[in-house]
Amino acid sequence: MTLLALAVAGRGIVEPNTPVVHADDEGFLRGRAAFETTRVYAGRPFRLERHLERLAESAARLGLTVPPRLDQLAAGALRAVGPVDAFLRIYVTPGREGRGEPEALALVGDLPAELEELRERGVALAGVPVGIDPPWLLGGVKSTSYAVNMVAVDEAKRRGADDAVFLARDGIVLEGPTTNVWWRRGDTLHTPSLELGVLAGVTRDVVSEEAPSLGYGVEQGTYRLAELLAADEAFTSSSVREVMPVVQIDGRRIGDGNPGPAARALQQALRALT
Ligand code: PLP
Repeated sequence: MTLLALAVAGRGIVEPNTPVVHADDEGFLRGRAAFETTRVYAGRPFRLERHLERLAESAARLGLTVPPRLDQLAAGALRAVGPVDAFLRIYVTPGREGRGEPEALALVGDLPAELEELRERGVALAGVPVGIDPPWLLGGVKSTSYAVNMVAVDEAKRRGADDAVFLARDGIVLEGPTTNVWWRRGDTLHTPSLELGVLAGVTRDVVSEEAPSLGYGVEQGTYRLAELLAADEAFTSSSVREVMPVVQIDGRRIGDGNPGPAARALQQALRALT
């Protein structure tokens, strides 16, 4: 990733390579910080308001105070780069340990180069067991304590896959490290319920909203991996990767092993909204 712009609350735009976090920032020391990522289409962030709402929800669960006017902070960073396709990240940290002065950053960076190639061929997932009975304490919170998520992606790659899907005890399907997971049986799309503590993805909402007009029903529930493996097609949803077809899980083909029609139609519907 290349950082294209950086805005710091209270300071405004700074040169993107400027060090801006202190060594005793609790976000760094403890991983106690909240963040959001959204995609930027020709300079315009997608559903920024909803992302800022979710940021406030995460911050509340983490006991953080949110500095004011994060929308303006984000707008400043976006203005600095102009009408590009990119991603926008916003971070809220408690600031330096013991000082009670929360900090916020907005970053704009370029998108991973391989996304459209992956969408064309579909991705392979590896099931990564996390040994929990859901929901866990911080389920549904977007915090910077993502070490488990990142190591799960490494583990998936080590096993020859592109990405991971977290499995709770008894093989209950949760979500990906940075995605929500979906599959289709006939005309019905299935996705794990928010009660399991998965993130309420903004793209997950788009899929739920758009599915009926494309002829698909949506069911949320508690499902085991076997149900996902028996699907006609599968895909993930996330702000950066959008709707990404899944063609294989743990080396087993999903459906006919090709990207499916629901994933294609939902990706088009998402793009039409941007
Ligand atoms: N689940 C997790 C754990 C995530 O980190 C993300 C996004 O990064 C998602 C799901 C997808 O959420 P969204 O569609 O809002 O990007």
